[in-house]
Amino acid sequence: MTIISMRDVSKFFGDFQALKDVSLDVALGERVVICGPSGSGKSTLIRCINGLEAHEVGDIVVDGTTLTADPANLEKVRSNVGMVFQQFNLFPHLTVLDNLCLGPRRVLGLTQIQARERAMTYLERVQISEQADKFPRQLSGGQQQRVAIARSLCMEPRILLFDEPTSALDPEMIAEVLDVMTELASSGMTMIVVTHEMGFARRVADRMVFMDKGEIVEVGAPQDVFNAPKSKRFEKFIKQIL
Ligand code: ADP
Ligand code: MG
Repeated sequence: MTIISMRDVSKFFGDFQALKDVSLDVALGERVVICGPSGSGKSTLIRCINGLEAHEVGDIVVDGTTLTADPANLEKVRSNVGMVFQQFNLFPHLTVLDNLCLGPRRVLGLTQIQARERAMTYLERVQISEQADKFPRQLSGGQQQRVAIARSLCMEPRILLFDEPTSALDPEMIAEVLDVMTELASSGMTMIVVTHEMGFARRVADRMVFMDKGEIVEVGAPQDVFNAPKSKRFEKFIKQIL
């Protein structure tokens, strides 16, 4: 079953075309890793999937809902799609627990007790429940990113998008975040992950997508594309990052 369908999607910033006729189908439970040089349109692509950016051309259907500018429509898509950012984007003035409770209370209408119970469940899942009463600045980067993942999970989305979730982390903290993401992947969550962590991609991805200059240049199973890249551009990219 296809849960995300992008059909000939183009996205412009003024005269600049950031996405060029991008087509991609993602199946329920699939793990897709997107890589490519800086500026190739990776963030733009996943931001279009949850309507953070509006595309001008083509169709994006997420879990049966076609993305349009209609606010009701956007809300429906966003309630199914969580997003984890490079810079965590936690609310600095709220405790970890309150960061997690905010969405479920305001958007899903849970009571404080229900929201807290749910928050603790997901904090345990990312193995950070002992930090519930701290503020984000009191945590390491790796801990903050795990909190951000738990916050997304609290909305119980059907799809999780990750935009370079380990790029802002010190090297020693990358593994703890990738471990949480690996566990999520094995639980059957549909995930699209923009990352250059190729070890993670090899272990977890069902499919790799390579982007360059706003286009999807190559798509395939990790073992196939890494061992025998079809395009020169992808081959060159792999050599640079490995
Ligand atoms: P990536 O995530 O692969 O590094 P992005 O999707 O962020 O690339 O950006 C793709 C291209 O679109 C880049 O050239 C970038 O400068 C441009 N771009 C992204 N966001 C904007 C914006 N809000 N306004 C203008 N140009 C943008
Ligand atoms: Mg980006």
